[in-house]
Amino acid sequence: MTSELDTILVVDDEEVVHTVVGEVIAEPGRRVLHVSTAKDAIKAIASHEDIDLALIDKNLPDGSGVDVARVLRDRHPNTPVILMTGYASLNSAIEALRIGAYDYVTKPFEDINRLALEVRNALDAGHLKKQQQRLLDDLKDSERRYSLAAAGVNDGLWEWTVATGGSYFSERWSHMLGCEQSNLDGNIDDWLKRIHEDDAERVRVALQHHVEGRSSHFEDEHRILHSDGTYRWVVARGMAERDATGKGVRVAGSLSDVTVQRLAEQQMRHDAFHDAVTFLPNRVLLMDRLSLALARTRRGSGHQFAVLLLDLDRFKVVNDSLGHAAGDLLLTATARRLEKCLRAGDTAARLGGDEFAIILDDIAAVADAVTVAERVQLELSAPLRLHHQDVYTTTSIGIALSRPEHTRPEEILRDADVAMYRAKALGKARYVVFDPTMQTGAVKQLELDSALRQAIERREFVLYYQPIVALGSGQIAGFEALIRWQHPERGLVPPMEFIPTAEDTGLIVPISNLVLAEAVNQLRELLERFPQDPPLFISVNVSSKHLGLPGLIGTIGQILLETRVPASSLKLEITESAVLEDSAMVSLNLDKLKGLGIELSMDDFGTGYSSLSYLHRLPIDTLKIDRSFISNLGVDGENPVIVHTIITLARVLGMEVVAEGIETEAQLMQLRALGCHQGQGYFFSKPRPANEIVEMLERRPRW
Ligand code: C2E
Ligand code: MG
Ligand code: MG
Repeated sequence: MTSELDTILVVDDEEVVHTVVGEVIAEPGRRVLHVSTAKDAIKAIASHEDIDLALIDKNLPDGSGVDVARVLRDRHPNTPVILMTGYASLNSAIEALRIGAYDYVTKPFEDINRLALEVRNALDAGHLKKQQQRLLDDLKDSERRYSLAAAGVNDGLWEWTVATGGSYFSERWSHMLGCEQSNLDGNIDDWLKRIHEDDAERVRVALQHHVEGRSSHFEDEHRILHSDGTYRWVVARGMAERDATGKGVRVAGSLSDVTVQRLAEQQMRHDAFHDAVTFLPNRVLLMDRLSLALARTRRGSGHQFAVLLLDLDRFKVVNDSLGHAAGDLLLTATARRLEKCLRAGDTAARLGGDEFAIILDDIAAVADAVTVAERVQLELSAPLRLHHQDVYTTTSIGIALSRPEHTRPEEILRDADVAMYRAKALGKARYVVFDPTMQTGAVKQLELDSALRQAIERREFVLYYQPIVALGSGQIAGFEALIRWQHPERGLVPPMEFIPTAEDTGLIVPISNLVLAEAVNQLRELLERFPQDPPLFISVNVSSKHLGLPGLIGTIGQILLETRVPASSLKLEITESAVLEDSAMVSLNLDKLKGLGIELSMDDFGTGYSSLSYLHRLPIDTLKIDRSFISNLGVDGENPVIVHTIITLARVLGMEVVAEGIETEAQLMQLRALGCHQGQGYFFSKPRPANEIVEMLERRPRW
């Protein structure tokens, strides 16, 4: 419990500052400690049980106020600090924020009233933080822990006395809504009347519930009217103080503006469901529609549907001979032609590359699906004029009908895939209807599994490394380790051809352990041979399956111990699917990895998530923008909005951003202009074996 008195520490070497500050902040219930050197300040911090607020001069005769602030923060992490600086500058503001100060003020004080208000707000914020801290100590759930702790000092604060309706709103609170504190009535309606009508009732009810003790805390995300006439998205959180009967007497809480995150989320949700080249639904949306269709089938009434999987037989030739732009045109034209073949209710989607899928909803018999397949083949066989040349393509189609055994969308898609594979094997330009005797897929999987087991024993895996470049300096900041399988007959096999199977069969664990050991050993050598500031890092991909296993931390810890490589030079790349699985073990492991000092990157960011809320919940340092977003950059007329939003989002959340798949100088230039921190891609270098990256580092390249 805090003592009755608020203790305020003032550290400044000028007598006059003490006089002015003492005058302004003296109030009953406050006790002010005046010291004039860093040494005395540190003594005072050590000897006082509780300090509620500190005002610290940045330049002290015997040291820096920033250091004093750090000492204070170590001992009293929730005590707000106001830094006093000689002049206002962006640097002062940044420095203050960097050490976690509540705010900074300039001397001489231009506006005494502002100082008084600032002190009051800071004390409020500190009290709230401490109150939250006490709650946190009681709460086990890690999500609540984070969100309350994050309701930090940049939020608006409010307090509502239930009996009278009288309310206090902090200056930041009113600034967030573009109004002056003095224009508020000091009543809870100041808030409630500004809430969007679709949200207002819900907020009232939630508050009432909390007052009545029917919820452990109050939290609501809603739209609120800014004085500029627009609605902002905010999250309000609060906690009641209760009387002996348990009824809430007062509720205090915070308000944070989450508009940027919300808008980014909406934009990205749309993009997440559509293919950027053809504007067709993408794989994610297709899966969703398939789930719906399956659900309808399960409900009986003889509902049946079919999936057609299409592969353009000559796409690669067009792409390689006429270029990407022509390839994209071919894909777009194909998309439009497919749409012509469909009825309302059917879905055409692009799965990636030259693969398309069609869902034919509600068909009577397989003959219906065959009719559509024939129509599609006819439609797509018409020549297409590209770059003054007539291009002809044929299409291979696999057809699968819904069966009672299907429980997941992947299963019917796999049937269609097996049928398409067969169509290609039979000489392309044809369709094949799946029948259950075609279990080639399963057989292939078994063969691959035993080949992988051998590969582990024979140590056939090698790591390639691709540089990650600091866009500011143009120099190599680190590398991503990418696995390859050096197959005795097939040559170098890319990861996508064996990692998914390894994940299914559990072989991913021994494989990942080999990768981690090898990558960290390589890292140790690089750190010794090429010291630089900041030191080189290596980024290793961790499969979602592995992340959910208990042994991971021990393995990594052991490797770091043996090699004596600092944990901060190792990064791990995880995928959204891993964190969305959200198993307790995944978050526990992430926290422990963070605890070791390892950095975490979110790989392929922007594809296939449904929510950004995990960004607040999990200790992620870096976002890697998926290369599908980068490939659209640098093309005339293309709009970098999504990349821009991700970079802004990262800035808001204090994360680094890496752009993946940079292939052209134009893309690099645009990313630099957008303030992206790091980049990776063929433009700098393809992934290379270890000896080649050593040579690369010796040349000290600069882009
Ligand atoms: P990722 O982690 O997103 O890795 C980036 C992929 O993009 C790499 O493919 C890289 O070669 C490719 N790439 C880089 N720059 C460009 C570019 O400018 N243009 C294009 N078109 N591609 C570029 P790669 O090596 O085939 O790896 C594919 C995926 O396999 C990786 O995606 C990662 O998810 C997975 N993977 C690779 N190594 C491992 C590993 O050791 N463990 C696990 N669990 N997964 C791995
Ligand atoms: Mg990666
Ligand atoms: Mg990636």
